[in-house]
Amino acid sequence: MRPAVLNPLFASLSSLPGIGPKLERLYARLLGRDGEPARIIDLLLHLPSGFVDRRDQPKLSEVTPDTVATVAVRIDRHRPPPPHRPRVPYNIEASDDTNTLTITYFNARKDYLQKQFPIGEVRYVSGTATLYDGHLQMVHPDRVVDAEGFKHLPLIDPVYPLTEGLHPNQLRKAVDLALERLPALTEWQDRDWLSRNAYPGFAEALRTLHRPASPDDLRPEGASWSRLAYDELLAGQLALALLRAHMRNRGGRGSAAEGRLRDRIIAALPYALTPSQQRAVTDIVADLAQPQRMLRLLHGDVGSGKTVVALLAAANVIEAGRQAAFMAPTEILARQHFATIAPLARAAGIRLAILTGRERGRERDDILTALDIGDIDLIVGTHALFQEYVAFHDLALAIVDEQHRFGVHQRLALARKGDAVDLLVLTATPIPRTLVLTYFGDMDVSELREKPAGRQKIDTRAVPLERLAEVTEAVARALDTGRQVYWVCPLVEESESVDVAAAEERCKMLRQRFGAAVDLVHGRMRGPDKDRAMERFAKSETRLLVATTVIEVGVDVPRASVMVIEHAERFGLAQLHQLRGRVGRGAERSSCILLYKAPLGPTAKARLAILRETDDGFRIAEEDLRLRGQGDVLGVRQSGMPGFAIARIDVHAALLPTARDDAALVLSRDPKLQSPRGAALRQLLYLFARDEAIRMIGAG
Ligand code: ADP
Ligand code: MG
Repeated sequence: MRPAVLNPLFASLSSLPGIGPKLERLYARLLGRDGEPARIIDLLLHLPSGFVDRRDQPKLSEVTPDTVATVAVRIDRHRPPPPHRPRVPYNIEASDDTNTLTITYFNARKDYLQKQFPIGEVRYVSGTATLYDGHLQMVHPDRVVDAEGFKHLPLIDPVYPLTEGLHPNQLRKAVDLALERLPALTEWQDRDWLSRNAYPGFAEALRTLHRPASPDDLRPEGASWSRLAYDELLAGQLALALLRAHMRNRGGRGSAAEGRLRDRIIAALPYALTPSQQRAVTDIVADLAQPQRMLRLLHGDVGSGKTVVALLAAANVIEAGRQAAFMAPTEILARQHFATIAPLARAAGIRLAILTGRERGRERDDILTALDIGDIDLIVGTHALFQEYVAFHDLALAIVDEQHRFGVHQRLALARKGDAVDLLVLTATPIPRTLVLTYFGDMDVSELREKPAGRQKIDTRAVPLERLAEVTEAVARALDTGRQVYWVCPLVEESESVDVAAAEERCKMLRQRFGAAVDLVHGRMRGPDKDRAMERFAKSETRLLVATTVIEVGVDVPRASVMVIEHAERFGLAQLHQLRGRVGRGAERSSCILLYKAPLGPTAKARLAILRETDDGFRIAEEDLRLRGQGDVLGVRQSGMPGFAIARIDVHAALLPTARDDAALVLSRDPKLQSPRGAALRQLLYLFARDEAIRMIGAG
């Protein structure tokens, strides 16, 4: 049961004044609630990504394009769109004594703008300044005030990641209201430790970050952010430790097999296993034969061949007469695993099925029944596999393909599913080797170090966008020789529909050139449509696939050997590596073209250089860390560690071992979290969505 004191934080955001159904939907999207209503706590943990510093106002000539600036300008002229052309923006010309600025509004209300921007007067406008056709422009400024209003603006104003349709001011207001709902909570951290580090309490840290008095307050390495990051890391480590204790305590059942099925699968493979794949299989088979439960991580870079290792593990328990489940993070991936495994399963006589949110009605019932009575040996699916109503006859092995996500929740749900389920987690999370064990909670690890034989280095080039025509010609030559091509358009989260429009536009242009061979897939499409687009591409019915980053995760089409990434400068290093990993999967020589918008900043330049130089995911992870240390790059989302909203790998990784030791110490003294500090730590687990672990305590 959630402690009642937390209830105000878990109330839905719509309990705040001014948040109706429409805003509620936007917040659900922004805060990643997957269609569920966002709650106050989700908003409070949505930390600023930057700030506007209004302590000085640059002259227009001093404004750096693509940064947020506050400027004082004189309003010179209004240029409304011509009548009946609502898509043309409303422009307002403004200036100071150094330069001019165009303030631009789409779908604007004319009377409102005329009131906001009286000609001849001075206004303080704050927003992202960009360079458009050589002119300084500001689209939809965040703040517009007169001199009097300016006096009341916070001089350090936090900037939040947004979603399309949500105005920064709406978000700021909601945060204000949410802060008022913060209850007084019992401290769960060790007080001495807090004071030694000069860390504030939980509520105070949140207030400081949302209402900074100086830019220093917002530094991730500062006391407030670090305090919350540590909270989050500790919650993660506690959850993992509880999971581990639960798994170990309950014992397991050995699933010994001679390897008959495994051999049949291996005989049906068109390739030989790499030495590290063989080693991983040997490790896993040994684990499976033991009466203890297995809790093993299969860690390998993209394209290292984890799927087949997982299948061989499954074959082992199936030969012992038991069942295996293989969970993928997305529908596309589940279908792809199913398609890869199907012929091999057939060759080995393994009864295979798939279950996702999409199987419905009769079909679904049949699958569920067959699973329950043991007529299915191996089931592939999404998280639909672990809903309450899915019952197994005798589940022996659960495989979770996390790619580079971090699904503690899924793992916990799985561990509770069967009676003595062995757990194998597949991951490509680019985490430096020194951190892997701690990050994943000290699981046993098998690592796939080398790529399958015959892989060639991917020829990687950085090309400025101005040379788009040349790139199109290179793509034409590739298509002529029967190769397949991915063309990735970036997602900039502020405006998904603008991004989708850009992808659609690019698709249209490429269709004019290459006709029906071109297809499009993006995140706004319905699931079945996405699948069909992927399937057509996999079957070579289409040969140039324009995509947003939906293809980032794990998709495997070995015939695709050219990858074009548009606006590569907007992606993080790890993400570029993931994307590039979609090619170079066959024996053919592959290439990757990183189209960038010039001029590149030094960090972006370094990132693209590293990619050209190496395709070792671990090395890239380490370089990524190093570069991140050198400061923020505009337009690149500084994502935290996978699975963590607040802790960042570059800044807070050093806290991870401390959190691990802390969690171990706490649980050694108080394994059921029953002491006063234990009770407070339960609150922490709820706040950071690790409360699934609390149920393990009862079950343990
Ligand atoms: P990931 O580790 O990224 O999940 P996959 O399991 O999707 O990688 O494998 C990537 C590709 O490599 C697939 O096309 C697979 O068939 C192929 N593959 C796997 N193992 C080998 C091997 N030992 N030799 C050659 N190709 C392999
Ligand atoms: Mg994979």
